[in-house]
Amino acid sequence: MEGGELRLDCLGSGFAFSSGHYWNGWLLNGRVLLDCPPQALPHLYRLGKTPADVDLMLLSHAHTDHVGGMDLYLLDATHRYREVRGRPFAVAGPRGMYDRLREMVGPSDRLPKRNDAFIEWYEHGGGTAFEWQGVRVETVAMVHSAPNNGYRVRIDGRVVAYTGDTAPGAHVLALAEGAEVLITECGGPWPGVHTDWSDVVQLREELPESTQIIVTHYDPATVPELFGRPGLMLAQDFAVYEF
Ligand SMILES: [Zn+2]
Ligand SMILES: [Zn+2]
Repeated sequence: MEGGELRLDCLGSGFAFSSGHYWNGWLLNGRVLLDCPPQALPHLYRLGKTPADVDLMLLSHAHTDHVGGMDLYLLDATHRYREVRGRPFAVAGPRGMYDRLREMVGPSDRLPKRNDAFIEWYEHGGGTAFEWQGVRVETVAMVHSAPNNGYRVRIDGRVVAYTGDTAPGAHVLALAEGAEVLITECGGPWPGVHTDWSDVVQLREELPESTQIIVTHYDPATVPELFGRPGLMLAQDFAVYEF
C-alpha cells in the first residue's frame, strides 16, 4: 500500500510533574488522539480541530497526566458534537479503563453510559488488535505501575508506535517493530516504572535506522546533550512532525 501523510501534532511533551511543559499527548494525522492529558481539548481547538474530527482515542493508562482531560473532552464531544459528527468514535485503553474513568468523573453523565452508541469502547490488554474506521491498532503490554498499553498504529499506509508510560525492555522493541516512528516516554530515573535518558540512548542503538525516535513525557530540566544525532528527536509543545 502506498503511504499517505504521517503527521504528529504534539499537544504536550511534559511528564507528570510538568516543570512548565504541558502534559504529554499527540494528535496523529488529525484524527487519532494518543492519550488525553488535561489540556488536550483546548490544544485540539488550537489546531483548528474539534471532537467531531477525532475518530479514535488511544489511552495508554489511567494516570491523570494521560487521561485527566477525558471528563471535559467527553462533555464537549457528546453534548456539542454528537449530531455534528454523526457517527461514533472509539476509545481504547487497558482493561478496566471505563471503570477508572467512572471513578475519575463520578456519577455525572459527562461519561456516557458504556452502551451509548456514540462511543465504541475497546478495553484490551497486550497481544490484541482491532480495526476502527480504517485505522488498525495493535496493542503491546508495557511495564508500569498501572496496566499500560503501548500501541502500534497503522494509518493511511504508515506505522507509528507509542509507549505511554513504561520501563524499558524487550516489550518496547517489540512495540517498535516495523514502525517508522516510535514515540517513547522518558519519565526519568524510576526503575521498573519509567524510561530514563540512558535507556533512550540504548533504544537508539537497538532500533533500526528506519525507525525515528521522538522522546516525550520528559522533565525539561534534565535533558542531556543527546539531540542532534540522526533519528532522535526531542518533542516540544505545539511542534508538528511530518515524515
Ligand atoms: Zn505519565
Ligand atoms: Zn503513568
